[in-house]
Amino acid sequence: MIHNKKNNIFFLTKKELILELVSLGFKRFVASQIWGWIYAKGVVDFSKMSNVSKNNIDVLNHNFLFERLTTINLTRSFDNTIKFLVRLQDNREVESVYIPEEDRATLCISSQVGCTLSCKFCHTGTQTLVRNLEAHEIVAQIILTKDLINDWDSKNRKLTNIVFMGMGEPFFNYENVAKALEIICDPEGLNFSKRRITISTSGLVPEILRCSQELKVNLAISLHGTNDKLRTDIMAINKKYPLHDLLSACKTYNQENPQQKITFEYVMLRDVNDKDEHAYELVKLIKKYNLNCKVNLIPFNKWNGCEYDTSNITQTKKFQEILKKHDLIATIRKTRGDDVLAACGQLKSASERVKKSSLKE
Ligand code: SF4
Repeated sequence: MIHNKKNNIFFLTKKELILELVSLGFKRFVASQIWGWIYAKGVVDFSKMSNVSKNNIDVLNHNFLFERLTTINLTRSFDNTIKFLVRLQDNREVESVYIPEEDRATLCISSQVGCTLSCKFCHTGTQTLVRNLEAHEIVAQIILTKDLINDWDSKNRKLTNIVFMGMGEPFFNYENVAKALEIICDPEGLNFSKRRITISTSGLVPEILRCSQELKVNLAISLHGTNDKLRTDIMAINKKYPLHDLLSACKTYNQENPQQKITFEYVMLRDVNDKDEHAYELVKLIKKYNLNCKVNLIPFNKWNGCEYDTSNITQTKKFQEILKKHDLIATIRKTRGDDVLAACGQLKSASERVKKSSLKE
């Protein structure tokens, strides 16, 4: 249902909310308490705000909607990975994946519906861009996850890390991502440390430079190729921002954020980028720019219609050893949630297929 008159309270940043509430006669500290009820305690309507007066609750109800988005197609893997779609107000859908581990729990969130890029290994790249997510739609993925896993006890937090690695290129939606981060990191609300948030980019140089100054979150780069020819073949964005420009921007990021290691994501594609010679080329590249970084080797999650195959684990380990022998930090990502269409974009595509086939019936 689309309402035009009242503003949904979730559309506002803290500053905007306080300004609006003060203009309606609320005391500033009460406005902060209301923010805390929404983002620190996760209440689902105004009437649950027990220290807010009845009169103020009436004013809230009169002026604001309290409308959350909803989740659909929730699937839980044998390893407790939860994958779900968030249904947006215009009935579009985006994916989020909750990945619990022993010492942390990470939520992978989306920043766009679809994607303008078409990196060849990525299932989301097969879906055209529909639109950018609004800041509140980005934040909603966290709120809905906290509901799902019952995580509103601030002394016993389950969800610890956020990664922008779901659908879309976050830096093509820079302003909304920045606004969402302001909400996600607010200490009186969701209270995530920037150290526990990672933005993963395909390599947009101007935004990497901007992020290094402004956002100060961790940075992950989808690298996947060790020379321009190979990388351009896998990721067309490399034509616009070739490796020299990209790695020079990474160097600047390192200088601006000396405590933070950049993560290079490297999906292992059999006989494409996974040979020993690629590992040596990668070592050379990282040493050339003297980067403070780590390399995360990702077993490729094959999907129907993709031209690539999964590299075998022996070769992946050999690749890792070559990097390690040259003093680089190299890890192999554990595959998670394989039984729930874990490759980014797959769940949404499956949902679209169901919608289309039900329209045909
Ligand atoms: S890897 Fe990221 S940027 Fe590339 S197509 Fe997939 S979602 Fe888009």
